[in-house]
Amino acid sequence: MTFRQCALALILAASGCGGAPATRIDEPAIAKDFHLIPGSFRPGRGPDGNTVVYDAPGGLVVIDTGRHPEHSKRILDYAAARKLPINAIVNTHWHLDHTSGNTEIKAAFPKANVYATQAIVGALDGFLAESIPQSEEMLETSTDLAPETRATIERDLATIKSPAALLPDITVDTPMTIDVDGRALEINLTDHAVTEADIWIWDAATKTVIIGDLITTPAPFFDTACAEGWRAALDAVEEKPFERVVAGHGATLDRSGYLAWRRAFDNLLSCAVAHDGAECVSGWMTDAAQFIREDEKDRAGRMIVYYVDNVIRSSEARERFCRAR
Ligand SMILES: [Zn+2]
Repeated sequence: MTFRQCALALILAASGCGGAPATRIDEPAIAKDFHLIPGSFRPGRGPDGNTVVYDAPGGLVVIDTGRHPEHSKRILDYAAARKLPINAIVNTHWHLDHTSGNTEIKAAFPKANVYATQAIVGALDGFLAESIPQSEEMLETSTDLAPETRATIERDLATIKSPAALLPDITVDTPMTIDVDGRALEINLTDHAVTEADIWIWDAATKTVIIGDLITTPAPFFDTACAEGWRAALDAVEEKPFERVVAGHGATLDRSGYLAWRRAFDNLLSCAVAHDGAECVSGWMTDAAQFIREDEKDRAGRMIVYYVDNVIRSSEARERFCRAR
């Protein structure tokens, strides 16, 4: 099977089992002025990435907006509870589990500027456009789709067909800072890492990195990734004296947790140089054991096998996702 043929299958297969993480809107602040709205990865449906709300007196900055309407509602509920407007949205990357909620947020707060890279434009013409016929066929011909799976596919189709809220109002094509009530959030760029161009955020005041999908659990999400660019991006992050890293999926890590994840990631890539997915999976499960819940083990294993065989070791995927490196 080519990479293209299984792009959608992956999203579904990867979400096919495992339990729901705790999803509490009253999660304690992860650092002063930062509030986490955790994503989810429930059986039978696509994931929602984590959202971080930067809570400033003049308004909120929302970093990633999830996929499903329930997730967007939690963001809007938070803004309502704080009686503050959402002034800006930052999308760490264009994957729909981080951007679909832009639609609801922009509808409620039309003045909220979207900060994002131009990679979404290429994705809408390529990867996402290609997924439309696959998705439509699946909706039409699969009689036994779980309702939650069907809802994810319909949600993704609706987002891809009406993507205005995903396009940047402010294009991030060079590192920049967003000034929020006198405090600068530093926005950094990657070159062909998780997508063609991703964003990660550094807050010097709290020594916090909001890293998007450069860190995910229970496995690295390689759907559109270039391994070399990803490694280079992590090298750049490591130059910051951070004390915590907010992951795109999964729990927030301290520096030693981050370094353990990084070791597991590097070992996986080294394994994939000479071995296939089935041979690399046990290494990941051992190295990353602290990041994989018991009920996630099957899914994590399937993801690793899929990604090693179909992305990391695939010359077609490499050609596509590392193109300009
Ligand atoms: Zn994600």
